Amino acid sequence: MRINLISDTVTKPTPGMLKAMLYAQVGDDVFKNDPTINALEEKVADFFGMESALFFPSGTMTNQTAIKLHTNPGDQLICDKYAHVYNYEGGGVSFNSGVSCKLVDGNRGMMTAEQVEKAINPPDFYHSPLTSLVCIENTTNKGGGACWDFEELKKIRHICDANQLNYHLDGARIWNALVKKKEDPRSYGDLFDTISVCLSKGLGCPVGSVLVGSKEHIAKALRIRKILGGGMRQSGYLAAAGIYALDNHIDRLQEDHEKAQELGKVLSDLPFIRKVEPIETNIIIFELEESLFSEQEFLSILSENGIDIIGMGQGKLRMVTHLDYTDEMHKRTLQVLQESVSETI
Ligand SMILES: *Cc1c(COP(=O)(O)O)cnc(C)c1O
Repeated sequence: MRINLISDTVTKPTPGMLKAMLYAQVGDDVFKNDPTINALEEKVADFFGMESALFFPSGTMTNQTAIKLHTNPGDQLICDKYAHVYNYEGGGVSFNSGVSCKLVDGNRGMMTAEQVEKAINPPDFYHSPLTSLVCIENTTNKGGGACWDFEELKKIRHICDANQLNYHLDGARIWNALVKKKEDPRSYGDLFDTISVCLSKGLGCPVGSVLVGSKEHIAKALRIRKILGGGMRQSGYLAAAGIYALDNHIDRLQEDHEKAQELGKVLSDLPFIRKVEPIETNIIIFELEESLFSEQEFLSILSENGIDIIGMGQGKLRMVTHLDYTDEMHKRTLQVLQESVSETI
């Protein structure tokens, strides 16, 4: 039994999901003739109470499309220094949109409305890039699965309104935030101009992301997706997995969150762990006391015991719980951490 805690993207489709995929009704989605894609897009739009939605092969393409449709070349967007759109999308913001990022020094990937307001360039000062978009991430990835305070998100909406800025939510793991905070997805639909979500993270699909927004925004997004090469044909097989996941895999995220809490608790009791960051959802970020245990040693002891995790750089290590991380694996991981690792030291 190998235990993979590297990411919540490592899951394989469940038998129920595979069956839904196998029997999907499909057509050619480039001609908008795939009934399962159309049903998924309608379902996700309705979930957030927004007008329209569009299926994408990846969350990166969804975010990049949103940024492209909200900006012009030369513009600047505001995001936290930890933002996925800035750190992990290959520089696509500049490559695809000719846009720069004004980075805000937030807390665990989250900025305050005041910080956002201060980051806006005065629109009449033509020497500076024109600020046109604010991107936020919920839950935060590099911030350790942290969930935003909804009141702060509302304050940022007011700042966007007062300054004619668009407001995009990178909601790759919005499902985790909704479950954790018991929030209504429609309140997010009311707040943001566009929302991107991932079906291939905690929800366990093999592929897929969706962009949600107004009819006008999604019409523009369709053209951009075409340009980026994201138009697919009988993609209803993938959409069927998405529909199945939305119906069956959201509520169970609670289990991933509980397991993450338990892992965090065991880690914080270990003498060679310097710090475990606050755990709100399914991501655990922690640091070793390097004088007692090097990162390499720790990773190889875990690996010898069948457990894979990754380092994030700067001395930080990460574990992510997910659908394929079973109760049995969890028991084993807790045991390995408590016994084998402690004995080695
Ligand atoms: C995973 C992720 C994405 C999209 O990633 P893909 O691997 O391209 O699907 C976007 N934003 C955040 C915060 C993510 O964690």
